[in-house]
Amino acid sequence: MLLVVRGPARPLISVAFFATTMKTCWQCEEQIPADKVTCPLCGVQLDPPPYVVLSAPRNVPAWLPPDLATFFVEHEGCGMDDSSRGSFRLARLAELEHLTAKDIYVDSPAWKSFDSIAIGAGQYGDWICYVLNAPVASRGAIMAFGGGVAGPGGTGPDRIPGSLVLAPNFTSWLARLREDGWEEYGLTPGSICGLPEKREKILKQHFQSLNLGIGW
Ligand SMILES: [Zn+2]
Repeated sequence: MLLVVRGPARPLISVAFFATTMKTCWQCEEQIPADKVTCPLCGVQLDPPPYVVLSAPRNVPAWLPPDLATFFVEHEGCGMDDSSRGSFRLARLAELEHLTAKDIYVDSPAWKSFDSIAIGAGQYGDWICYVLNAPVASRGAIMAFGGGVAGPGGTGPDRIPGSLVLAPNFTSWLARLREDGWEEYGLTPGSICGLPEKREKILKQHFQSLNLGIGW
């Protein structure tokens, strides 16, 4: 597949990165470049990545975990307020902040030392965060919190409703989203049933293995 090389008019886009990054069309399952917004085979509309590649690396705060730091050195998120996005938005570097138990309105003793970094938001205002310390998931896991999130998320006795583990780590989270055309089906589990059968099975197994109490 050939890519149209963009000139200096769009300095933030790195063609080299997108040329090696593919995603799966949710409708026809064709493998297509991740920056395509329309499937060349079936014509369905697809979301662009929720970030851009920076033209030059930048400095990031020392408090970021290594995998988040590596990403944000070279990429910028679309921003928490980008309403053109589908099921979720990725934070810009300047928007990364700690998210603790009081921010997600959890009052249980097991969650007292919960700490995370808010890295994104769902379309209905749910938080997406990078876990630093949680009673139901390992450090580095990606979790969603919010009234409409179909949980309970994670494993163990301290699972709470309105939460869901989306991925065991940041890198695999982005890889799965890329395959799904940047749609976070963990936030819209009802639409998993409309996917090709093979993908439906993979996604259900993925979420059930990370969230032992979910009923979907
Ligand atoms: Zn297609």
